[in-house]
Amino acid sequence: MIRYKSTRGDKKLVSFSESILKGIAYDGGLFVPEKIPLIPPRLLKIIISQPYNKVALEIFKVFETDFGEDQLKKAINEAYGKNFDSKDISPLVQIGDFFVLELFHGPTYAFKDLALQLMPRLFRMAVDKDNRLRIKQGLKPLKHLILVATSGDTGKAALEGYKDLKDIKIVVLYPKGGVSPLQEKAMLTQTGNNVMVVGIKGNFDDCQFLVKKIFADKGYNRKIYETKSTVLSSANSINWGRIIPQIVYYFYAYGQLVKKKVIRFGHKTDFVIPTGNFGNILAGFYAYKMGLPVGKLICASNANNVLSEFLESGVYRIDDRSLVKTPSPSMDILIASNIERFLYEITKDPKQVGSWTKQLKEKKRFGIGNKNLKKIARLFSNGWKNNEQTLKIIKDVYINFGYLPDPHTAVALGVADNYKKRSKNKVVVLSTAHWAKFVKDVYAAIFKNANKNMDEKGLIKKMAGAVNQPKIPSAFTEIFSRKKKFDTTVDANTDTTIRVIDKFIL
Ligand SMILES: *Cc1c(COP(=O)(O)O)cnc(C)c1O
Repeated sequence: MIRYKSTRGDKKLVSFSESILKGIAYDGGLFVPEKIPLIPPRLLKIIISQPYNKVALEIFKVFETDFGEDQLKKAINEAYGKNFDSKDISPLVQIGDFFVLELFHGPTYAFKDLALQLMPRLFRMAVDKDNRLRIKQGLKPLKHLILVATSGDTGKAALEGYKDLKDIKIVVLYPKGGVSPLQEKAMLTQTGNNVMVVGIKGNFDDCQFLVKKIFADKGYNRKIYETKSTVLSSANSINWGRIIPQIVYYFYAYGQLVKKKVIRFGHKTDFVIPTGNFGNILAGFYAYKMGLPVGKLICASNANNVLSEFLESGVYRIDDRSLVKTPSPSMDILIASNIERFLYEITKDPKQVGSWTKQLKEKKRFGIGNKNLKKIARLFSNGWKNNEQTLKIIKDVYINFGYLPDPHTAVALGVADNYKKRSKNKVVVLSTAHWAKFVKDVYAAIFKNANKNMDEKGLIKKMAGAVNQPKIPSAFTEIFSRKKKFDTTVDANTDTTIRVIDKFIL
């Protein structure tokens, strides 16, 4: 069994199921595997030749979790089934020189579904396992409250994943006015008897701050434990339970290239990843460590290019930056929480990681030094696109290939285009959302004289008429006729937020 330890050096090791339940290590660090499993080439060749769900199961088996194979198989088959509108789950399509890995075929049309369709099922299994043990020990079984802050995509994907799970409730905080009308409508019409959505008068950082404050509030945690047998947990990518499911599609994509005879088994492949919180690209890093023939991992940033700057210079600096609004809002992040796992993996030195995270907090910057930079430069490359460039890429790709990328994917395609001259390898570009989610910008990118007054529903319909492919899933138009279930907006204040949550978990 592979256990998990903290990036900050806490000696306590936990199982996979415990890491999912806790979300974050006891000392505030993130859980990382005590060893990264290496897949020998002979086994790798077999694994990658299989359908998606089989690849997923094999990757979980390699990680030697504390769940049984039958349990995992059931969870995986439920997570990746009819709820995806492609039987390939993450189909690989060739667009010009590139192979686009479409990760948006799940119920919320963003790549978050790949992790958030499976993780709630693993969470369920972990809760049941833990509660059986507690009952044996004469303790009360626990209920769980998942608290999520979202800038749009994570909230909806988490709501879909956790809805109707027994003894588990989920509360999503989103910035009122800070998400697209379509994203808001999708969350406010969410079905399920255990879900709640709260608008916060503030921005995403305020939501994130509230979640952190409530997690750290010992008094409140004690109160809900004693009065409601409830503990808090997290569904964002600080939770290791989101990382393994994301490792899977790197293997699957490679398998598709071999199957289509684009490459021979063993040839290296490059991946371009639109990056915000460093979760997706981190999964690619683990895939490489596990033996997948990866040439380069290319980090694609939008105008908030703190990560591409870091990979280029070795200096992570937010002292002279403020968050810029972009057409790719899911990448509008300055403090990428999964960088901490990366720093640990390249140094294996928790003291050093602790010192860097402290510097980032206090001085708003840290540098990893030349030796470390040289090390990561062998595997990582980077690039970024500003807002104007992003919109132009959408138009160019549409005109040249008849393919509509969403703005996040467009950033990656643009970075891939600059990069391709530097490599002989085949390049896979990860596509993280369906264009209809960001129809306003996509429409404006292509039709310069866009009608400013038209709502998203009208724009989706109009766009659907204008493009022959890809097809528009009916879910996008249905959202607008669904009934709103939530109508709570509160100030960005811990006490008021807690009062709303209290009423819900009563
Ligand atoms: C979350 C998200 C990203 C960024 O992924 P990270 O794991 O945070 O780097 C990119 N694109 C879309 C559409 C997303 O929802």
